[in-house]
Amino acid sequence: MSDKKLYSLPELPYAYNALEPFISETQLKIHHDKHHAAYVNGANAVLEKLEKARQAGTDMDMKATLKELSFQAGGHVLHGLFWRNLAPAAKAGKEPGGALADALKKEFGSFERFKKEFSAAAASTEGSGWAALAWCGMTGRPLIMQIEKHNVNVYPMFRILMVLDVWEHAYYLDYKNERPKFVEAFWNIVDWDEVNRRLEAIIK
Ligand code: MN
Repeated sequence: MSDKKLYSLPELPYAYNALEPFISETQLKIHHDKHHAAYVNGANAVLEKLEKARQAGTDMDMKATLKELSFQAGGHVLHGLFWRNLAPAAKAGKEPGGALADALKKEFGSFERFKKEFSAAAASTEGSGWAALAWCGMTGRPLIMQIEKHNVNVYPMFRILMVLDVWEHAYYLDYKNERPKFVEAFWNIVDWDEVNRRLEAIIK
């Protein structure tokens, strides 16, 4: 319809079974191939609808359209960040290093305290949503965000360093209703090198 660029589903940077036993192959495959793909398709559908209306010169319900785009595009962006801040347990887990370790210690007092606050944010996110570690460029301080859906409670311009998806679709096959168990498992597969790279790219 037009040559304007659309979103595309990124491949996972590891095999579907690479995060076992913390996230099963089936869980990860459905999450990536079905759920993440649906946000990519959903965002593209809105962009194409806008394009079509522009070409036809017709009006759109801008409020509903932009609300939909924010949700779908937010879902796509967050999943892209999520896959890349995870890694197989053999190369993940442990503790952060570099500037990230310093920033967390300074802000939270200790890595353990940060983990505790982040876990509590993830466990208590209302309905479907995310916990995120973000960076405020104005204060040069990290902060935890509790994102509802894919786009509520997000701070404009705050850069996201790490996310944890706590939608039921992220863990229900593996953990049923026990979200805190999934949150606990998450710490075994965090790619701290990647999270630290994200921070160092911002503050360099
Ligand atoms: Mn998800």
